Amino acid sequence: MKSLKRSFGDSTANISSKVFIRSLKSGRVQKVVREQYLRKDIPCSSQLCSACASNAAADASGNVPKPVLSRQPARTKSFPTGHYIVPDTNVLLTGIDLLEHSDAFYDVIILQTVLDELRNRSLPLYNRIMSLVKSEDKRFYLFFNEFRAETNVVREESETINDRNDRSIRKSAGWYATHLKAAAKKNAPAIVVITNDADNRRKAEAEGIEALSLREYVSGLENADHLLDMVAEGQDRAVQGELIYPDYFTQSRVQTGLKAGVLHQGVFHVSPYNYLEGTVKVPAFDKPLLILGRESSNRSVSGDVVVVEVLSKDQWKQPSSKIIDEETMNQNEGAEDEGEETGPIITEGERKALQEEVKSAHHAGADRAQPTAKVVGVMKRSWRQYVGTVDANAGGGNRQQTVFLVPMDKKIPKIRMRTRQVDQLIGKRVVATIDAWDRDSRYPAGHFVRSLGELETKEAETEALLLEFDVQYRPFPKAILDCLPSEGHNWTVPQDKSDPGWVGRKDLRELLVCSIDPPGCQDIDDALHARQLANGNFEVGVHIADVSHFVRPNNAMDAEATSRGTTVYLVDKRIDMLPSLLGTDLCSLKPNVERYAFSTIWELTPDAEIVKADFTKSVIYSREGFSYEAAQKRIDDKSAQDDLTAGMRHLLRLSKLLRAKRMAAGALNLSSPEVRIESAETSNETGDPLADVKTKASLETNSLVEEFMLLANTTVATKIQSVFPQTALLRRHAEPPASNFADLSDQLKRMRDMELDVSSSKALADSLDKCIDPEHPFFNTLIRILATRCMTSAEYFCSGSHAEPEFRHYGLASEIYTHFTSPIRRYADLLVHRQLAYAISYEGQGSEVVDEGLRNKNKLENVCRNLNFRHRNAQHAGRASIEYYVGQALKQRQAKMGDEGVVEDGYVMRVFENGAVIFVRKFGIEGVVRLEDFDLSPRKKSKKDQRSDNEEGLITKESEFEPENYALTVFEKGKKDTTGRRIELFQEVKVRVSSEEKGGAREKGKRKVRMVVLG
Ligand SMILES: [Zn+2]
Repeated sequence: MKSLKRSFGDSTANISSKVFIRSLKSGRVQKVVREQYLRKDIPCSSQLCSACASNAAADASGNVPKPVLSRQPARTKSFPTGHYIVPDTNVLLTGIDLLEHSDAFYDVIILQTVLDELRNRSLPLYNRIMSLVKSEDKRFYLFFNEFRAETNVVREESETINDRNDRSIRKSAGWYATHLKAAAKKNAPAIVVITNDADNRRKAEAEGIEALSLREYVSGLENADHLLDMVAEGQDRAVQGELIYPDYFTQSRVQTGLKAGVLHQGVFHVSPYNYLEGTVKVPAFDKPLLILGRESSNRSVSGDVVVVEVLSKDQWKQPSSKIIDEETMNQNEGAEDEGEETGPIITEGERKALQEEVKSAHHAGADRAQPTAKVVGVMKRSWRQYVGTVDANAGGGNRQQTVFLVPMDKKIPKIRMRTRQVDQLIGKRVVATIDAWDRDSRYPAGHFVRSLGELETKEAETEALLLEFDVQYRPFPKAILDCLPSEGHNWTVPQDKSDPGWVGRKDLRELLVCSIDPPGCQDIDDALHARQLANGNFEVGVHIADVSHFVRPNNAMDAEATSRGTTVYLVDKRIDMLPSLLGTDLCSLKPNVERYAFSTIWELTPDAEIVKADFTKSVIYSREGFSYEAAQKRIDDKSAQDDLTAGMRHLLRLSKLLRAKRMAAGALNLSSPEVRIESAETSNETGDPLADVKTKASLETNSLVEEFMLLANTTVATKIQSVFPQTALLRRHAEPPASNFADLSDQLKRMRDMELDVSSSKALADSLDKCIDPEHPFFNTLIRILATRCMTSAEYFCSGSHAEPEFRHYGLASEIYTHFTSPIRRYADLLVHRQLAYAISYEGQGSEVVDEGLRNKNKLENVCRNLNFRHRNAQHAGRASIEYYVGQALKQRQAKMGDEGVVEDGYVMRVFENGAVIFVRKFGIEGVVRLEDFDLSPRKKSKKDQRSDNEEGLITKESEFEPENYALTVFEKGKKDTTGRRIELFQEVKVRVSSEEKGGAREKGKRKVRMVVLG
């Protein structure tokens, strides 16, 4: 095989060894020495060098890669013959936005040493660098310096890993310089190491290597001014001010503490209702640990992996019963305010709020107290790019000034950044990142990345949403489109059965297959058929788009799909996981066209017992593409007596039996507040933009499709698990600890005298069925929505990472589960297809590569982690998109109709001492109402009079909170008897929903939906 051809050197010096220590099951330790053959055929990849091109090694598919680095790299004053850039790890970590910038940073050499280090420090940044390496336009070259004889560096005994890596960077840079001088003589470009480490720069200079700090390098570029805004803060800054945050524990103290069980590690989450309150869930405690106040959270940002120390029991508290926004708390704070730096860690307002918290905690009694803790270390930052607005208090001129970026996400603190372009940033959606959070700074320091455009324009807001949820939305580059079939839209299933595409495939074209989907669905993943057999049993087939036929393992398209993980559905935009040629065309199981499929075919008894299950790659010909509604109509139409309809009726009858069995086994009928936007066009006809917002109706045909998809998923899960006991890609839903339901149980008990039995999923399902309030038809759904939130989320995992009893899917009451049925829009399903293809010995091209990719547990675990992350984000992005749509529709409606919003039914989901959370079913959204959002005027007849005192805000309101009764009474100061308005948990209330732009910078442009509780 060509790919294994290597030109070994002739001396033993070319063998370097790496030593691994492996602990064996017996407890003994084994030393593994892996020898590494150093090579000379790893190219410099400069187009200026012909030597490397002639002896470069070919890749696995036999291609010799083209040189990446330009023949005429960018010239600057300091580098008149052009230059290549060699960044160190720290520069990649803090300067990624610069590296991605289209104005600069071309011809970059990424060293293997640096990349490995980066991968350990931050996987998201590693992925971003890798996508630069893959994209052709920026000319990033990944140089395997550790494998090339001249650039390999062995760590010396007294040397730290860090020093060794720095030396390795200098050695590679030095080699490049000499190597290119030999190749290009006078025209050789300069090799510029970029490092913020002064010591490393000094050593480089001594060795005759160009080395600059990132700031120095950027200052020398032509468009330095706007690029300098993007250089990370804090790199060249020594700690100056008073130290207002406690120091973190040393690494060894943290490790010892964790081992001894006195410290705990977990993910820090900030409450969406109170920015001063965070929680960390750790295995040692039933309830999450509470982190109260800035000092205790000690510079952690929501999402960071932190190490905490639990406080003594007398300091335990119950969670906040108050809504607290940073916005209203510290309104008049300037970013350049010098006094702020040396001032107290928390502002006066914050201190008051915290004191009140403590008071109320003591009131409520100790039984509901939760352990509290403080952060003593951060294991891993989850800092990313944040979208927000620049605080409008700033302004004026082109001088450099410090401003606050106020993130849209309320859980993220304001970010201090320096900029020279304040005037251009006000009123824009702005992206920034956090670089550092020093002990002497109340807020983190960051830098400007880019502007997305005017606030409240569709383009800026959509992009903001995609960035906030880390959705990759760039158009597919050429390298990916090159992986598509060359026939494009004209590709068809080959008619000649001797074609390789037919090998191992069953011809199922005569089956009466149809698909049933939401209206307008273009990416049709699944289709079904059923027919009665001679023995009275039924043959049922679930046919899934054969995406793995088109997406081969490890090519550019596969890599992109792995990284995207899922298709993301926004109201008026779909961000595909795969190019649309596949998703909506060649793979899509559209009617009246032959398609490749992966079929699961069962024989079921009339009682829906499985007699046997078969899997095969196939060719199908779908007869109809139904919407749920159309399918339901066809089934109900008594005059329809054709075989296809008969098959659908068999499917419906069997699906009901399957469902009954699942329910009997304890499957949960969960609920989430889902609405969908019918079609953004219909509104133009009816004149009411809100007419498009529909709650999801559930027909029998929805359930029909769902049951067979579940059956296919469980059947496939069992099969792949039997062939890949260590690496089957499965999906589990862990049983939630009973303590998760403690609050909801207490609420149901006190408010309705109802019991929630959480001893098993079956018990929970039964007790949820009994939560019925005859006066309040929505009550049961409301409780299901709340119960769903008490559960853990389902997750993808690799079967070797959990013991078999933990495979269980709690919500579905299934012992084993996976995702097989949506490979067009979920990467997990695509991988499962490959595993199943292997499991049934389907002989396809490249099966050898497939095998490797499917048996590597480490690799799969990484894939699972990413898929879980992408999956969650896709859901959040979808919901945020609906919320944004509702806000815009309300705004348009208000403008059109000239009214003050719409009056809808709302349900009280949560009660605080200064407000409540109300869920509006019609729009599937929930909102916080504060005291000012209670309309206390007596109910009036005319619609116009209904908007009254509130808008002016002239009345001072007070409230009385009854924590035991989950109730809140709001009244005009001093007039409780006459103006009091009492609401309690689960209550149905009338709310006026309107769209309005609130004052604060965070709400800006978000078209916050405002809710007012009517009298
Ligand atoms: Zn070369």
